[in-house]
Amino acid sequence: MDRARAQPAPSRSPAARNRVDDDLARRAAALPKVVLHEHLDGALRIDTLLELLRERGVEPPARDASSMAAWLDANAHAGSLERFLEGFALTVAAMATSEALARVACEVAEDALADGAVLAEFRIAPLLFEPFGLAADAVVEALLEGLARCPGLPSGLIVCAMRHLPPAETLRAARLALRFAGRSPAGPGGPCVIGFDLAGAEFGHPCGEHAEALALVRRAGLPMTLHAGEADAAERVLEAARHGARRIGHGVRLADALHDPARRHLVDEVRELGLHLEVCPTSNVHTGAARSVASHPITALWRSGVSLSVHTDNPLFSRTTTSSEAEVLMRETTLTASDLLAMTRQAAAASFLGTSARERALRHIDDAIAAATAPRSTPNRTAPAR
Ligand SMILES: [Zn+2]
Repeated sequence: MDRARAQPAPSRSPAARNRVDDDLARRAAALPKVVLHEHLDGALRIDTLLELLRERGVEPPARDASSMAAWLDANAHAGSLERFLEGFALTVAAMATSEALARVACEVAEDALADGAVLAEFRIAPLLFEPFGLAADAVVEALLEGLARCPGLPSGLIVCAMRHLPPAETLRAARLALRFAGRSPAGPGGPCVIGFDLAGAEFGHPCGEHAEALALVRRAGLPMTLHAGEADAAERVLEAARHGARRIGHGVRLADALHDPARRHLVDEVRELGLHLEVCPTSNVHTGAARSVASHPITALWRSGVSLSVHTDNPLFSRTTTSSEAEVLMRETTLTASDLLAMTRQAAAASFLGTSARERALRHIDDAIAAATAPRSTPNRTAPAR
């Protein structure tokens, strides 16, 4: 957090400040949401994580929910990607049974629905569960069954491959994704695999290393969103697009090109290609990709006309929700509720879910935009005084 921006106005009383914060929180909570970038293994409820770890005989790093939250907070603010990622070893171990995977997928969907989501895409790397004796196909089936347990939220699954692993593993993940593309264990119209992603440590592992798998996915017509321009340069965003990505996880380093005449064309190309950036402000602060939410490049990228939207990445590790992201952006930056609604609209349009789910989400968002811009009924000031 940028302390200069976080300082309250000196003339405001603490009670007035609380009222402003409450109002922002209420307005953020009321906005419709579209979830495009949320890792299931970074989105467990704390109580569920503790319970599943104990069931699996794994000693948690903290005994109860509040000390677990403190442990997660300390990791999030350690300023180290390695420390931040430590949590995944715990969550993957906790989730490594079919029932736990289904439970987590269902709970994450329920939490998104409660936070105002009208459409959601969740992602995970299924191959990470193989060392625990789970077949990757069984992992995907369990996750899709879990998502189907939350019928109130149209949702789908993005299969991730880990970019620091050998390309042959990415090829296996790609084939897995294609086996479940358009095929739901819950029957026709149920949640299925809707996309493919490369996650994990970006720097030193450009997506070109996995060109064969990406070409296979592209040729099969399964949409791709690739993490790029988070820990590596703006050029990686365009590289991901060349390999077939229609959306980009993060992409915030693209902002480095905004004020560099020699690289400004990168921003123009992203706009012309219609690439959509899935921006995760709090996560970027926690992993060192941004200094603070107040100085986060999302505002500059948005004002430059790039299509983007706001996401949580790993709500468990960053102790956030989509509503919290909206609230902190309205408080710490010049972005308004209208900006956030317009971003959410772009997110729904960029979703990999089917046409009917996208159109339904767009109608929800358009209703919210219409309600926000409708003239308020005010007393007739010209009425004669009685
Ligand atoms: Zn991510």
